[in-house]
Amino acid sequence: MRLVDTHSHLDFEELASDLEQVLLRAAQKGVVHIITVGISMETSEKAISLSSNLDQVSATVGIHPHGAHAITEGERRLLLEWLSLPEVVALGEIGLDYYRNYQPRDLQRKCFAAQLDIAVQAQKPVVFHIREAFDDFFEIVSPLATKISGGIVHCFSGDWEIAKRCFDLGFFISIPGVVTYPKATTLQDVVKRSPLDRLLIETDAPFLAPHPYRGKTNEPAFVFYTAQKIAEIRGEGLEKIAEITTQNAVRAFGIPL
Ligand SMILES: [Zn+2]
Ligand SMILES: [Zn+2]
Repeated sequence: MRLVDTHSHLDFEELASDLEQVLLRAAQKGVVHIITVGISMETSEKAISLSSNLDQVSATVGIHPHGAHAITEGERRLLLEWLSLPEVVALGEIGLDYYRNYQPRDLQRKCFAAQLDIAVQAQKPVVFHIREAFDDFFEIVSPLATKISGGIVHCFSGDWEIAKRCFDLGFFISIPGVVTYPKATTLQDVVKRSPLDRLLIETDAPFLAPHPYRGKTNEPAFVFYTAQKIAEIRGEGLEKIAEITTQNAVRAFGIPL
């Protein structure tokens, strides 16, 4: 069985301090590839250095909405340079977070739009982080959907109507461990109704560990429990869900498998 964790933060202390064991436990659960995601210039650089040392790890680079700011010319150039590296498979995570609102919404929109320009230029897919901001997301992204090289709405938190709009734009949605929580009925409904060829799975480790590890430090191995839940919801075998989501990850990110 092959699984891909399409979204984790291996540079965070909880995982970085125990990386060898984290990667070993992931391999033991069938995880053949992990995408480690940048949220700032500093963490993007760390993601690149991790991925250049490890065959089973790819990186993304970008500025998270929590750290939204006016992108400088130097940052723009560096992001473009990083995006030309083979181990950097996407721009992200970028987007809008109106749930936490750590930065003013106007600044979040500007930072997001500026990075979408970079995505158009770089022709690599985009990892979106969108929380309680889907109206603005669709307004900003729709005119650019055919100009960027594909998109992934990570840690999907919308309902079926929003999922359909993402699919209409040609995007994938990525299902987090949250789907294993009993109260996540909206997300479970999305998983049930979505075309299988549009679904990805992720941990968002070290955050949001799935049942039965809820509340503990999440890690790539636990993407297994998310795949297992998706198989249960869809009435399919785990091996089939693992293989399809793995092939989807190859299509979405062009990862070397
Ligand atoms: Zn995120
Ligand atoms: Zn993340």
